[in-house]
Amino acid sequence: MHPQRRPALLLFAALVFTSLACEAQPLPFTLKQVAPKVYAVIDNANGDSGANAGIVIGEEAVAIIDSLYKPKATQALLAEVRRLTPLPIRYLINTHYHIDHVAGNAVFAQAGAVIVGHKNMARWINTENLKFFGATPTAEGQTQVAALAPPQIGFDSEMRLNLGQRTLLIKALPGHTGGDAVVSVVDAGVVFAGDLFWRRAIPNLIDAHTADWIRTLDTLRQGQPATAVFVPGHGDVGSAGDVQDFQRYLGDLQAAVKQQLDAGKDGEALQAAALAQLTPSYGGWAYFKNLGPRNVRDMQAELTGNKRRPAP
Ligand SMILES: [Zn+2]
Repeated sequence: MHPQRRPALLLFAALVFTSLACEAQPLPFTLKQVAPKVYAVIDNANGDSGANAGIVIGEEAVAIIDSLYKPKATQALLAEVRRLTPLPIRYLINTHYHIDHVAGNAVFAQAGAVIVGHKNMARWINTENLKFFGATPTAEGQTQVAALAPPQIGFDSEMRLNLGQRTLLIKALPGHTGGDAVVSVVDAGVVFAGDLFWRRAIPNLIDAHTADWIRTLDTLRQGQPATAVFVPGHGDVGSAGDVQDFQRYLGDLQAAVKQQLDAGKDGEALQAAALAQLTPSYGGWAYFKNLGPRNVRDMQAELTGNKRRPAP
């Protein structure tokens, strides 16, 4: 090799090495700015975060909404906040107790955040989450659920948090679990709805009371500007129209199951008939195959007065 070429080769090698070392891992979510200093954290198509979250930055402090499910995603969320602002993370607000929204709680508590949630959450977070590990949870599952960090501040119906020139309004609304919080960024027209809103996705109804939930989806839209942005617990950022579509799904599910019950159907036959009714409108929504059959069974239990829900 000609000696004069060596520096060029070394420089080339150094550049390749640097670009490999600096090449960022793809984030397990998409960070979407939905208003000035308000970000929706939207899970990617592979479900690498397990759920959505949010970041709200005020003049003095930061609030995080939900802590995600996968540990790598929680770490990536914390790193993104640190990239966006040096302000302290003062609050972590949990929208509800389900493990896919709270598994990373301890990470934010260690980062200095106070965890805020509906008062029922503290009773359920370390007990009710066991059901997501099957009928006989593994020792690992039991340890994980026992270690989940519960809210330190509970609220009953409503509370406000001040982040400096920016107020968060947190409201309890029934439907998904009986301990759900909706977080509104009042000045920005952004509503973090948690799992009370799933955008073009079939919801988990394991703890649901859909009669309450359908009314809640009216309340959610009331008083919001026409341009309001609704951040769901699962699925992409949506509009009031998307919330209405989701409300229509719950109503159509209710009507389909009721119709089959009235026709005397039960079990597999009821399930197949109700799903056939829903497929033309909702067959293309996320999780239809996985959660659709369970939605029918949960709705049947609710309509026949046999639905088990967590006790406050
Ligand atoms: Zn949930």
